[in-house]
Amino acid sequence: MSTPAAAQEYGLADGAGIAARAAGLTKAYGTGETTVVALDAVDVAITRGRFTAVMGPSGSGKSTLMHCLAGLDTVSAGQVWLGGTEITGLNDRELTRLRRDRVGFMFQSFNLLPTLNALENITLPMDIAGRKPDREWLRQVIDTLGLGDRLKHRPAELSGGQQQRVACARALASRPELIFADEPTGNLDSRSGQEVLAMLRSAVDELGQTVVMVTHDPGAAAVSDLVLFLADGRIVDEMPHPTAEAVLERMKRFDGVRKS
Ligand code: ADP
Repeated sequence: MSTPAAAQEYGLADGAGIAARAAGLTKAYGTGETTVVALDAVDVAITRGRFTAVMGPSGSGKSTLMHCLAGLDTVSAGQVWLGGTEITGLNDRELTRLRRDRVGFMFQSFNLLPTLNALENITLPMDIAGRKPDREWLRQVIDTLGLGDRLKHRPAELSGGQQQRVACARALASRPELIFADEPTGNLDSRSGQEVLAMLRSAVDELGQTVVMVTHDPGAAAVSDLVLFLADGRIVDEMPHPTAEAVLERMKRFDGVRKS
């Protein structure tokens, strides 16, 4: 299925390859008078090989956008593509396979299995899928994330930052087309958070991966290449080459609108 040409659209600052896109993406919860429109006809493109952050006030639709782009949730209207595949046309089984083979995930809670060591956690999704990891790639990921001397440790023997680095390596292991990270630093102290952000940055810069990260933290967003700002279910702005100060200033304008 072909991907339609984009006219004016958020996320397309440098016109590189597209890892994912949405057209008219609408998601409503509930029916009748209790309907909540979480996403309101969103058009967006996620550029390949780039680090995109998604910010916005609480309830603006950040998680819903990520879930719909990742095929974790159904949409009410509109279309979503991962690469050239329209995922809004897939059935549950096809979606499960697509998520498993082509998408990597990181969450606020690291979601590691306590009985497995770091290496076993990293390769678990591929083991379940019956796929052999590319050893050279795996070594590169482990080296880049500085996990070489922690591979035999179980999660309880690792710091929070190290656990999230293992989760990052797990997301990278299958060399996915896209990594979605939902508040990946939310459970970490600021130093460990910085470490994990630096790892995600390296995944983009050194390993050529594509990362989309939902965050509340202007400092975290500043590590990205492009920040998309959501408000009331719409993308209302974008900021290439963000700094923490500029992101904070932009976020303050949302507060101003809300209070007025
Ligand atoms: P954010 O991640 O920016 O905080 P969400 O995407 O979680 O925002 O939510 C967007 C809107 O959709 C909010 O108004 C939220 O209450 C609503 N919402 C999210 N998930 C559900 C759900 N499962 N059922 C009903 N409403 C939901």
